[in-house]
Amino acid sequence: MPATDTIVALSTPIGRSGIGVIRLSGKFSIEITRKIIEDDSFLPEPNKVFLKFLKDPETKEALDHALITYFKSPNSFTGEDIVEISCHGSPVLLQGVIRIVLTLGARLAEPGEFTLRALSNKRMNLSQAEAVRDLIDSQTEAAAKQAVRQLKGELSTYLQPIKESLLEIIVQMESRLEFVEDDLPELAAKQINQQLEELSKQIESLSLTFRSGRLLRDGLKVAIVGRPNVGKSSLFNALLASDRAIVTNIPGTTRDSLSELININGVPVLLTDTAGVRLSFDIIENIGVERTRRVINEADLVVVVFDGSQNLTKEDFDVLADTASSNHIFAINKCDLESIKLTLPETEIKKVIVSAKTGEGMEELRSAILEPFADTEVTNSGLMITDVRHYDLLNRTLAEIKNSRNLLAQGASEEITLVGLHNALTFLGQITGETTSDEILGMIFSTFCIGK
Ligand code: GDP
Repeated sequence: MPATDTIVALSTPIGRSGIGVIRLSGKFSIEITRKIIEDDSFLPEPNKVFLKFLKDPETKEALDHALITYFKSPNSFTGEDIVEISCHGSPVLLQGVIRIVLTLGARLAEPGEFTLRALSNKRMNLSQAEAVRDLIDSQTEAAAKQAVRQLKGELSTYLQPIKESLLEIIVQMESRLEFVEDDLPELAAKQINQQLEELSKQIESLSLTFRSGRLLRDGLKVAIVGRPNVGKSSLFNALLASDRAIVTNIPGTTRDSLSELININGVPVLLTDTAGVRLSFDIIENIGVERTRRVINEADLVVVVFDGSQNLTKEDFDVLADTASSNHIFAINKCDLESIKLTLPETEIKKVIVSAKTGEGMEELRSAILEPFADTEVTNSGLMITDVRHYDLLNRTLAEIKNSRNLLAQGASEEITLVGLHNALTFLGQITGETTSDEILGMIFSTFCIGK
């Protein structure tokens, strides 16, 4: 159902800035704009910028000197009339303007509502709408590039011929069902089976990209653990320094905090240093032990650090015991100090020899961190599945096709075989949104930010 009300939101982040953009979408956008600039005849040419004074319609006081851009329906992001007002970036001013716009008949937009309208007005499909969110949320350049591919429609372009072939098979089987009395001849069944196998292969090769794709989007949590003085903090700092483009600070933390986000081959890695947290039984330090345990439990990978210039101590063995059940690798540090003395228990666990001091082995350590999760060239791959929702739907499609193929092989009736194929088509349609229920749409759009 097309929306009828006009929505408004701040489309730039809250806070002081050069400019702040307020966006209106809906059929009263222009009318509301006329009132706030006190010009009833204002009929701007679309896609052009106009410099106007904004005024409070009640007090007639000037609020700001702002730039106004009009995007005429249907050629706008949402498909509706859109007005963007670029004010000076004062939070007080922006809130004031929005408050006035609300009194003039607009309502505050829900999270993702602009994009939802773009979807309802067929300006984009669901996977493109999700790409808008992923692009905004992307933490590395590589993740942003992947989101743009999806935004350009590459995912739907990939899936379209698959859906068409599947539909053709369904139609073929259904028409037989209607017009032909006998069962599917063996030859036809064989042919359909082959076509389905081919489609499965294409779907599977896309679904396999999720292993790397999810990393680009969600990243990894990596903890650095070890007894005191093995060089955890030094390694932490060396890993930060080797990342020439530190992505962002985690909100509420500073550069010298325990966790930092770094970029390893395009994968956002949240690195946590557990230095200063002693694995001992002192009452006070037990709090630290708890915290280290939590970090270990939550980590996708634990880097267990040892001092390679010394033999293993009892504390090292404690650390080994504490990390035994985690997914971990060993970093043998201080390799710049004479030959490695340390002998670790014989295991399959990956060992990297490093020096936080000289930087030796740091590149190997970075690769070893990604190795258990992705191919090293994560960023150079083609189109990838980055969203678990899409991944799940692809796998459900594969399971349905497989099931139908088995039934076909067993000589089951077309009716029964067709159930799975119909389901498969529905699942593929849910990726691009043709067959997605409102409930699911609501869940997806609740993950968007306001103003998008
Ligand atoms: P943490 O307690 O495990 O965080 O260890 P630190 O990072 O504080 O390091 C303990 C000591 O080892 C410091 O004096 C560091 O300068 C030194 N250190 C750390 N890494 C290396 C290294 O690779 N080579 C050498 N020679 N010293 C190191």
